[in-house]
Amino acid sequence: MSGVWVGLETNNGELRSVAFEMLTAARRLADASGAQVCAFVWGEGAQDSAKALGECGADSVVVVELSGDASARPAEVSAALAQLAAEQKPSVVLLADGAFSRSVAPALAQKLSASFVADVIDVAFDEKPVFTRLPYSGKVIERVAPTDASALTIASIRPKAFEAAQPEEGRTAGVSTFAASPVAAARVLQDVVRAVSERVDLSEADVVVSGGRGLKGPEGFKVLEELADVLGAAIGASRPAIDEGWIDAQYQVGQTGKTVAPSLYIACGISGSIQHMAGISASKYIVAINKDPEAEIFAQADYGIVADLFEAVPLLTQQMRDMLQ
Ligand code: FAD
Repeated sequence: MSGVWVGLETNNGELRSVAFEMLTAARRLADASGAQVCAFVWGEGAQDSAKALGECGADSVVVVELSGDASARPAEVSAALAQLAAEQKPSVVLLADGAFSRSVAPALAQKLSASFVADVIDVAFDEKPVFTRLPYSGKVIERVAPTDASALTIASIRPKAFEAAQPEEGRTAGVSTFAASPVAAARVLQDVVRAVSERVDLSEADVVVSGGRGLKGPEGFKVLEELADVLGAAIGASRPAIDEGWIDAQYQVGQTGKTVAPSLYIACGISGSIQHMAGISASKYIVAINKDPEAEIFAQADYGIVADLFEAVPLLTQQMRDMLQ
C-alpha cells in the first residue's frame, strides 16, 4: 500500500482517545503492507499534539492550519485532504466515526472517486485492506475490501473498537504544516450548542449508567447521576427518555443513537429492545436492573437484578461509595 493516513481533529485543544485507537488500526495496516502512517491533525492545539502522535505510531505528522472560520471547517478540511491525497495517493484514509467525519468523508470520497466505509470496528491486510463493520444493528458481520488494491478507501473508525496505541520511548515523527486554502462555506453556521459536562464522553466511556422509561421522569436521572458520579461513569438513555424530554438527545444509546462499548453498561428500567441492544452489544459486561423478571434485557445481560430501580440504584450507589472511598 502507498500510505495509511489518519485524519484527526482536536477537541478542546486535546486529542480524543479515539485518535490513539485509530493509530493502532493504521499501524496494523501499515505494518502488514510495508506502508507509512501519516497523521493529519487540525484544530486548537494541533501543533502540540504532534509529539504524542509520533510516540504512538505516526511516521510523519502534518499540522493542517485552517482559516478559523468554524462554518468553513468541514469544507476546508475536506479540500485540504482532497488536494494532498490527489498529490500523494494514499491507499487508506482513516477518520473517527462521528458527526464530523460523516460530513467530511462522503464529500472527500466523491472528490477523490474513493469508496467510503463507515463505522469500522476492525481492520486487516490480505493483499488489500479489509474493513470489518456490523451493519443491520449488528446482526451481521460484514468484511469489505476495495476491488482494486490500489484504489483509495476512506474509512471511519468506531470509538473504542481498538486498543489505544501506547507511547514508545524514543519514537518520533517528522512534523510539517500545511496551510489549507480558505473555502467559502456552503452553509452558514449560526450557532454552536456545546453541552458543558464534566462527564466523560458517552461514546468513549469505560462505564455507562443508562436509564429508560422505567425512570418515570427527568428526576429519575438524578438517581442515576449519583451512581455515575461514584463510578466516574457517563450517562446514557433509551429513546423514550429522549422522546419524553427527560434528557437531551445526545444521551440516546441504540440504533438511532450512539453506539457504546464500555467495560460496564448498567441498564436501569430498560426493557432490552433490539434497537437499544444494537447500541450496547460491544459492552464487556451488561448489568440490568428491572422490576419485571420477564424483561427481555435479562436474556442478554451478564448480571441481572430483579428490583425496583428506585430502591436498588441508591443501595448500589452506597455500596460502591463505601468500596471505592
Ligand atoms: P420500555 O420498553 O417501556 O421498558 C421500560 C422498562 O422499565 C420495562 O422493562 C419495565 O419493566 C421497567 N421498569 C419500569 N419501572 C421500573 C422500576 N421502577 N424499576 C425497574 N424497572 C422498571 N430505542 C432506543 O433505546 N435506542 C434507539 O436508538 C432506538 N431506535 C429506534 C429506531 C426505530 C426505527 C424504532 C422503531 C425504535 C427505536 N427505539 C430505540 C425504540 C425501541 O423500539 C424501544 O421502544 C425502546 O428502546 C424502549 O425503551 P425502554 O426500554 O426505556 O422502555
